Amino acid sequence: MTRITVAKGDGIGPEIMDATLAILKAAGARIEVDEIEVGEKVYLSGNSSGIARESWDIIRRNKVFLKAPITTPQGGGYKSLNVTTRKFLGLYSNVRPCQSLHPFVQTKHPKMDIVIVRENEEDLYAGIEHQQTDEVVQCLKLISRPGCEKIVRYAFEYARQYGRKKVTCFTKDNIMKQTDGLFHQVFDEIAREYPEIENEHWIIDIGAAKLADTPETFDVIVTLNLYGDVLSDVAAQIAGSVGLAGSANIGEECAMFEAIHGSAPRRAGQNVANPSGLLQGAIMMLIHIGQTEVAENIQNAWLRTIEEGVHTYDIYTEGVSKQKAGTREFAEAVIARLGQKPQLLKPVAYARGSVFQMPKYVRRPSAIKELAGVDLFVHWGGTNPDELAARLESLNTQEVKLSMITNRGIKVWPEGFAETFCTDHWRCRFKPVDGVAMNKQHIIQLLSKAESVGVDAVKTENLYAFDGKPAYSLGQGQ
Ligand code: NAD
Repeated sequence: MTRITVAKGDGIGPEIMDATLAILKAAGARIEVDEIEVGEKVYLSGNSSGIARESWDIIRRNKVFLKAPITTPQGGGYKSLNVTTRKFLGLYSNVRPCQSLHPFVQTKHPKMDIVIVRENEEDLYAGIEHQQTDEVVQCLKLISRPGCEKIVRYAFEYARQYGRKKVTCFTKDNIMKQTDGLFHQVFDEIAREYPEIENEHWIIDIGAAKLADTPETFDVIVTLNLYGDVLSDVAAQIAGSVGLAGSANIGEECAMFEAIHGSAPRRAGQNVANPSGLLQGAIMMLIHIGQTEVAENIQNAWLRTIEEGVHTYDIYTEGVSKQKAGTREFAEAVIARLGQKPQLLKPVAYARGSVFQMPKYVRRPSAIKELAGVDLFVHWGGTNPDELAARLESLNTQEVKLSMITNRGIKVWPEGFAETFCTDHWRCRFKPVDGVAMNKQHIIQLLSKAESVGVDAVKTENLYAFDGKPAYSLGQGQ
């Protein structure tokens, strides 16, 4: 018996959760349920996180959380419970299978059967944003080696467990050589440990185009948070319907399972919503807690139900569907088919016992880190970079000198183009003169001089070389 936490959520949430739990119960899932309240009611009671302290305790104790969609009230101040849950519980991996159910659910991609493994904690979603000048705001994209290692290894372990043949990595490392470059590098390192699984890397733009065009050429896809967020919705939609997809959010300790769609408030209370998305989440949960045979039984009965044309309104097609079912009737149809296998769609057979090998992260020995310069970001309302350079050259010392100015990453001094559009946010790079070992005192002196001559420094970014290799981007055109 496994104790799980359940939240019925808002809108269609309670109906699809009741349907899902009825199927799990009928299939003999060995679970005990602790129900908690999250979402709209909690938000509107004045709790901006949408979840009470005691509910966290239950989630953390049970470690397995099945969550129906919730409504995030309109207006500022309300924090997304999904994002909070993922971050607080360290749910680093978002797993979303997208399989077409052709010819029973309409899709342009009859052979599609992919799984997107999305990094869930890092990237631009760390939410570290600042306004720096009148015209410029920034969002920090933070990518870590442990973050990359965990998610890439998870994708390969998933492929191994589910007998999948290929893992594809999507990044944009031709542009983001440090951040996406690290993800790609870790992918190549870890791929070597799985010689039986094919691996490949695509630049995200052409990769996404190919995914939308010929998804059947992909198997498991692993990618960074933002790309994965966008792509996984595209993948679910082209597979047939977002209403059919579930997702797992996996951490080292805890895991959360859900449908990918929202609370569809307009459909609430009418017994019309499709419970399949949440059911798919629940099936992943059963595999996660080791009840593989129950998961398999439900999935095969569900496939059989779809194949026999028992369809909720969202996937109902005249001529293909046989019976328009409500939420409850659909669940009853699945229950009636427990023990049966699909005849045209491929039945599932999940491997017994988890073989996931997720070793704890081991920090590598520190590299030799040398300060190689500093980027001073300046708020300046002028337009001629030569004028700014003249002011900044007054900060030069015998040891550290202005070497370059960029605006939005494009080199504008020395030898910029008059055509380059400039904002009020300038990156001014100071480098040590040959033979000088730069240290932080040089930066402090620069800042203090800048202040005394009225240069508005809004931030600095240290430039480092790690083990002798420069580890910062050049200016575009440099
Ligand atoms: P939605 O997914 O709720 O609805 C989009 C469309 O899909 C609607 O036309 C709806 O009728 C249909 N639909 C969705 N699920 C369905 C189902 N199971 N069966 C049949 N039809 C279904 O997206 P939305 O309208 O943008 O968002 C509504 C609310 O849900 C918002 O408050 C949003 O914040 C929230 N939301 C929550 C989650 C979550 O809790 N994981 C995710 C997304 C959106």
